[in-house]
This record gives sequence, C-alpha cells and structure tokens, in this order.
Amino acid sequence: MEKDVVVIGGGPAGYAAAIRTAQMGGTSLLIEKNNLGGTCLNEGCIPTKVLYRNAEILKTLKNIENFGIHVDGYSIDIEKIQERKNNVIDKLRNGILQLLKKNKVEVLYGIGKIQDKNTVEVILNNGEIRNIRTKNIVIATGSTSARLPIEGSNNPQIFNNKTLLDFNKVSKSLFIIGGGVIGMEFANIFNEMGSEVTVAEFMPAILQQVDEDLIKRYKILAKKRGIHIHTSVKINKIEKDEKEFIITGENKDGEVIFKSEDVLLAAGRTPNLRRLNIEEMGINFDKKGIKVDERYMTNIPGIYAVGDVNGISMLAHSGSYQGIQVAERIMGNEDTLILPPIPSCIFVFPEISSVGITEKEAKDKGIKYKTSKFMFGGNGKALAMGEEEGLIKIIADSEDDTILGVHIMGAHASDLIHEGMIAVYKKMKCSEFSHTIHAHPTLSEVLSEAIMTVNKESIYS
Ligand code: FAD
Repeated sequence: MEKDVVVIGGGPAGYAAAIRTAQMGGTSLLIEKNNLGGTCLNEGCIPTKVLYRNAEILKTLKNIENFGIHVDGYSIDIEKIQERKNNVIDKLRNGILQLLKKNKVEVLYGIGKIQDKNTVEVILNNGEIRNIRTKNIVIATGSTSARLPIEGSNNPQIFNNKTLLDFNKVSKSLFIIGGGVIGMEFANIFNEMGSEVTVAEFMPAILQQVDEDLIKRYKILAKKRGIHIHTSVKINKIEKDEKEFIITGENKDGEVIFKSEDVLLAAGRTPNLRRLNIEEMGINFDKKGIKVDERYMTNIPGIYAVGDVNGISMLAHSGSYQGIQVAERIMGNEDTLILPPIPSCIFVFPEISSVGITEKEAKDKGIKYKTSKFMFGGNGKALAMGEEEGLIKIIADSEDDTILGVHIMGAHASDLIHEGMIAVYKKMKCSEFSHTIHAHPTLSEVLSEAIMTVNKESIYS
C-alpha cells in the first residue's frame, strides 16, 4: 500500500516527521539503519548531558567546603558512569519506540535509498530488499563528524565525539582539535573529570556564534579552571610514539608542538548524503547539505529534507521542529508556516545560551540598537546557590524598543533562555517586558533586571 510519507533517518527530525504525519491521520514509515534517536540520543545531546551532570557534581564536590560540608574523599567509577549513561539512552530510545508503535508508524531497520520520487528502496539489515511506494519522501539522515585534512588523523586511537563517549579511563591529558560547541563541551566535562585539557581552534575565537562580551568573560573563567585554549592555530600533523601523541601545528609565530596522552577530533559536522541517490535524482545540495526552500522542500516536489542534513542549524530541537512542520504541510495544514527564532545552548561551565541577534550582527545589519547587561553576582538566588559567575546581555532596537537578542552565561542558562525566546519571537518591547513580575528569589530575575536596565528602569543598576 502506498504511504503518505516515507522518512529516511530515525533521529529527532525524522521520528518527529513520522509521528506527526500519523497523528494527522496519514500513513508513515520510518527507515533507520542504526538506532532510533539518531546522533542526538545515541552519541550527541543526551550522552554528553549525562556526562555534563557528572562534571557538574564533581565541580560542586571541589567547592563543597565553601558550603560548610566536609567530604572525606571521592573517586570516579567509570563503569557506573557508563552504565548510567547507557540506561538513560535505553530508556529514551524505548520511549521513542513506544510512541512510534502508539501512532502506528511502521519502522524498518536498514538503509534507505531513493529510487524515484515515489519509491524508496530499503536494504534491510538482514539483507532483504524492499521497495516502498510513497506520496512524499522526507530525508532526515543527519550528519557525522567531519574528516580533517590533518596528516595522521585517521589513527583509530584518536577519539571522535562518538568513541570518546565510551571512555574507559580518564586521560591524564586530552588535546581537543576544534573549539566549537562539541569540542568545548567535552573540554569542560574532561577538565572536571581530572584531565589536563588543551583546545586548539583554527579560527581567531572559540564558540564563534556567541556574543563577544560573553565569550571574553567565558575565556577568563575557562582559563581559571585550567583549560588551555589556543586560537588561530592550524594543526597539520598528529603522530604517536609509545607514550603519547605529538601534535604539530602552526600559528602566526611559526611551528607549535603539543604533547598529549589522548586526542579528540571535534572540528565540524558534515551532512549524511551518501547512499541516498541524491545526485542521480538531481536533488540540489552543496557541502553544507541538501538545499531546501522555506517549506523544507528540495527542488524535487514531494521530496523534503529536515534536520542536520539541510545544514540550516544543526540542533536537535530545530530538526524536530522542521520535521513537524513538514508533516503538517504534507497533511494539508498550511497555517503553520512560521520561522521562529531558534535558541541555542552550550553546556560548559557556566552554561551559555542565546536567542536572536548578537551585538555584532546588529552592527553588521546596520540596526540602531541599545544594549544592557546584568550580572548574576547581583542576584540573591545565584549567591545562595554559590553560582555568582555570569551575566545576561540584551540587544534591543533603539528606535522601537523591540527585544532583538538575549544572551545568557550563568547557571541554568539553558533553561532561562526560553523566556528570552518568547520575548524575541513575540517581538516584545523592553517597556512591555518590564511589567512582567518575576518571583523572588529566582535566577529569572537576572533576565528581568537585564531587560529593565535597557531603559534604565531597574532599581538595581
Ligand atoms: P541525526 O540525529 O543524525 O539522525 C539521523 C539518523 O539517520 C541516524 O540515526 C542515522 O543512522 C540515520 N541514517 C543516515 N543515513 C541513513 C540511510 N540512508 N538510511 C537509513 N537511516 C539513515 N544538539 C542540540 O540541540 N543540543 C545538544 O546539546 C547537542 N549536543 C550534541 C553533542 C554532540 C557530541 C553532537 C555530535 C551533537 C550534538 N547536538 C546537539 C546536535 C544534534 O545531535 C543534532 O542536531 C541532531 O541529532 C540532528 O538530528 P537529525 O534527526 O537531523 O539527525
């Protein structure tokens, strides 16, 4: 029987598209070659956040004396850490499976290949081949770690984000190539676990998408906690002797050499385009991914691409939103064609999150803007928690007072950002936001004070 939608890839973008199609009365089939949940659940968002929680606890333990608590000693049980991580993944994967079952989404485990605009061939993991007829195809095959043109980087002893998650020892030293979100999250986790962490970034700044004021402060904090960061370094070669890796690179002063027990390659992601037949199908793509219009449709009507594979934002929540949007439109709901702002979170210490434009973007776009900042150190709850490091920065339109960007660095920034997200999405004015009452004592008061400070309405600044 012909399906309404066949989805290739069972990550957050793919399973969201399949489930929403079914919820709207359509028939959908999901093809996944490995594990349901994709990169996000199996080797990305979730396992890293399980380990981040370990790091958070270790960080608290290191400062425990400040809370008047004496702990005689502690040690790390890696087997238990791995067990906890795997249990969380299993639990969530089982949840996805139940949801798919409940919504009667058919799941096939194998590799999906587009034969024509209404046929997908599936090479099942047991070797059997099936051809599925469908009205629409959603490509949601995600991304994988990018390969770098570095001599010696194909040594299997070098970690990537997937292999490092299954660590069975805490390296004495860890050299991370790439100071983007993935590299910096691992840097923070292993720094707290006790590794001597060095990060080498090719560009002049780490975490390039973050507002400059926050990153300036973050770099100071990272240094204080013992993370060595080198920017504008090009790594050329990785060698290994019996003891350690020798990493050779260059910066503006010439050759630089680093030594480290272990190395992690964390420099970028590439879209999974292989084995889909997209070239033969004439689907447009470039190195960032499959090209789509504002409906996430490719140049071939009826074939869509959502999530990391279209390169729009490479975030799990953005992928699932796109998956849902595509399903809605395929099933005839055109009302939902909205492109809301996408919040982003970085799980370092302290957390960083943002939504809307940075100050640099405001300048580049020629927007007349005003800014304000409020420090976590001026907030009662932050002090009570012992989390006074951090700040919130607001960018607002100086002509009409609209909130354009919210940037947070501090405890629970990843949860606090959503109020900012609603403000940016609903184009709220600072003067309107000033009338929203925030409970005391809470961290969200920092956001409210930061916004009130834009128009000098805060009594605390
Ligand atoms: P994926 O999750 O990559 O899923 C694609 C699926 O398609 C995979 O399961 C793959 O096996 C399958 N597949 C591929 N080709 C085929 C084929 N031909 N046939 C059948 N199946 C196929 N994002 C966040 O928002 N927050 C975070 O905290 C976060 N942390 C991250 C940490 C790390 C270390 C990494 C690597 C990524 C992180 N991300 C995070 C990014 C997030 O994981 C991705 O944005 C998200 O997984 C993309 O979802 P997707 O559905 O597009 O693709």
